[in-house]
Amino acid sequence: MLTDLAIGRNNLSERTKRGKMEVVLSCNVCQSDRIQKLDPKFNFCRCHSCGYVFDSPRPSVDEVANFYSQPAKYDSWLKEERARDALWQRRLRKLLPHRAEGNLLDIGAGTGQFLHHARPFFTEITGTEISQSAIRIARERYGIELFAGQAEELDMAACSFANITLFHVLEHVHDPVRLVSRCSELLRPQGILAIAVPNDVLAWSSAIKKIGKQLGLKPFQKFSPVLGISRAGTSREIHLSHFTPAVLRQLVKNSGMTLVEESIDPYYVSSGIGLLADSTYYALHRILQAVLKVNYYNTLWMIARKP
Ligand SMILES: [Zn+2]
Repeated sequence: MLTDLAIGRNNLSERTKRGKMEVVLSCNVCQSDRIQKLDPKFNFCRCHSCGYVFDSPRPSVDEVANFYSQPAKYDSWLKEERARDALWQRRLRKLLPHRAEGNLLDIGAGTGQFLHHARPFFTEITGTEISQSAIRIARERYGIELFAGQAEELDMAACSFANITLFHVLEHVHDPVRLVSRCSELLRPQGILAIAVPNDVLAWSSAIKKIGKQLGLKPFQKFSPVLGISRAGTSREIHLSHFTPAVLRQLVKNSGMTLVEESIDPYYVSSGIGLLADSTYYALHRILQAVLKVNYYNTLWMIARKP
């Protein structure tokens, strides 16, 4: 039986328990308490002041950790390992021109596959991960020992890292502002933070799902008619935040970091004709972004530098 638990933004971990749903009372990005219920059936809310879209009520920290620790959770990743190698190489190619000389921390490192590819380009690699099954795979497959836990719990001094990557992590965490602030603290001056998140709210794919749901079409039943996004926990992922470029920019700026690149994340995992279609769609949106400065792709990519 799920019960609601009201929380503010500074007391998340103490008051969450397995099986509980939390109610968020103030905006994580701008602290406003002017919260609009966007789609109550799907638990989607939006901050009136800054436009941040998030889930409330939402699963607790433990619920999310348990969801990602299911033993078979990463089986599909292993099956598509070669296509995922190509994904990590694409991200690495986007990151390396901005890289600061030195070490790398990958937060939410998953099975360690990115760190495996990144290792030759950095003096040292470190990763954090909350999923026990992913930690085991990283150890067995790539010989990488990940830190079990969240970045906020990492026992490292300030200014310990030259580079930090947050690939599809911010949308899963309960306090994105705290995590980006922690990254800023962990980075040395001139250090680089790379962020990739879904572009749930503005993506054309969400618009199509929204219209499909509004028309009552069967394949679109699990999506919100307001946002075209599925409810947390009903797909392979639990997303607690749904960022737009404007909100993510604000979050980065609030942490005291400088935005140095805004782009889209080549997140697709495919092969054969699917790869051709995905890379063509990606290229189309790169052009749209370069020419019209708009992002209707499925993802956001930002590089920030600590002053
Ligand atoms: Zn706000």
